[in-house]
Amino acid sequence: MDLFEYQGKQYFSRFGIPVSPGGVADTVDEAVATAEKVGYPVVVKAQVQVGGRGKAGGIKLADSADEVRTHAGNILGMDIRGHVVKRLWIEHASDIAKEYYASFTLDRAAKLHLGMVSAKGGVDIEQVAEEDPGAIARLHIDPTQGLDEAAARGLVEEANLDPEAADGAVDILVKLYRCFVEGDADLVEINPLILTPDGRVHALDAKVTLDDNAAFRHPEWDEFRGLEVLDPREALARQKGLQYVGLDGFVGIIANGAGLAMSTCDVVEQVGGKPANFLDIGGGASAEVMANALEVINTDEKVKAIFINIFGGITRGEEVANGIVAALGRVEIRSPIVIRLDGTNADEGRKILAEHESDRLMSLPTMIDAARRATELAGGKTR
Ligand code: GDP
Ligand code: MN
Repeated sequence: MDLFEYQGKQYFSRFGIPVSPGGVADTVDEAVATAEKVGYPVVVKAQVQVGGRGKAGGIKLADSADEVRTHAGNILGMDIRGHVVKRLWIEHASDIAKEYYASFTLDRAAKLHLGMVSAKGGVDIEQVAEEDPGAIARLHIDPTQGLDEAAARGLVEEANLDPEAADGAVDILVKLYRCFVEGDADLVEINPLILTPDGRVHALDAKVTLDDNAAFRHPEWDEFRGLEVLDPREALARQKGLQYVGLDGFVGIIANGAGLAMSTCDVVEQVGGKPANFLDIGGGASAEVMANALEVINTDEKVKAIFINIFGGITRGEEVANGIVAALGRVEIRSPIVIRLDGTNADEGRKILAEHESDRLMSLPTMIDAARRATELAGGKTR
């Protein structure tokens, strides 16, 4: 789950990372009221989950109520690369001497945490990485060891931050790493991390991605949930308790097991189709789960055919087939369905499906043939 900047800053605060005082506003009047409380000058900041808000005109300094009114009016409703601004964050403006960059994330290939610090902050870090990769200091961190102050200091020195920023930056890095680990984030990023003319270091922006797998131990995340920006298909899938990821193709996919669901997406691509989604219905394939899965896929207007790919293990083939048949009795499906059923008692399952076969429902014995048929039925070109 991605957080908005203001939520990320709330999260940072819990770990003692200094941020500017501020408040949210959903209307121009609220923006002015918040600015009065916070004290001028303020920054009016668009809350959308996309970077480069500054360049897009979504971040403006204001010295008076009139200026807040003007900027808030302009920014609310603004479209920033497909994200419409519904909420503002108004914070007390900081004086900036230097803008740095700091982040922690997972390096999946190295199986380690990765810390990155740069003296070239404020701008697009991808651009820095491309044009001046040496300007980003990197440190791999063993999750079982963690990050101590000495290691954080090493990172700050390697990044060549100004000497007067060193102590503040080290302190923030140690806290940011705690936020990353104890806060169960996949990414914590501060860009810019600033040095003020009077020598303080603090976070001027916040990007936090929480690891949804850890939600069970964070009841406090519920407050973020309500505001989460979800694709409507993903929202429905979550409501139904399904492991669903929306993609932008035209072949709907249902499979049991994350590995099989991923392979199914790959095979559809391989034969020239485009998967509309990833959907793992897990171990069982009851009528209930299957009906929920079909219902979610059915709401996706881009879907022109559905490919159900089930490998029976503990769940036997005839149970799967009965589940599919029962589900079809519950949900009216717009698209033709191709089923590949294999594994335990596949023959029994296929026999059941054969009784229901039509030009809207067919069963094929192999994954590649089924993927091809589904792609053809969806009007795609196969190879
Ligand atoms: P982003 O463009 O979406 O990354 O939004 P940021 O929150 O990082 O803001 C973009 C830029 O606006 C920063 O790099 C700063 O240069 C500027 N900015 C943001 N807040 C302040 C502030 O309090 N004071 C000043 N002077 N500039 C700010
Ligand atoms: Mn930023």
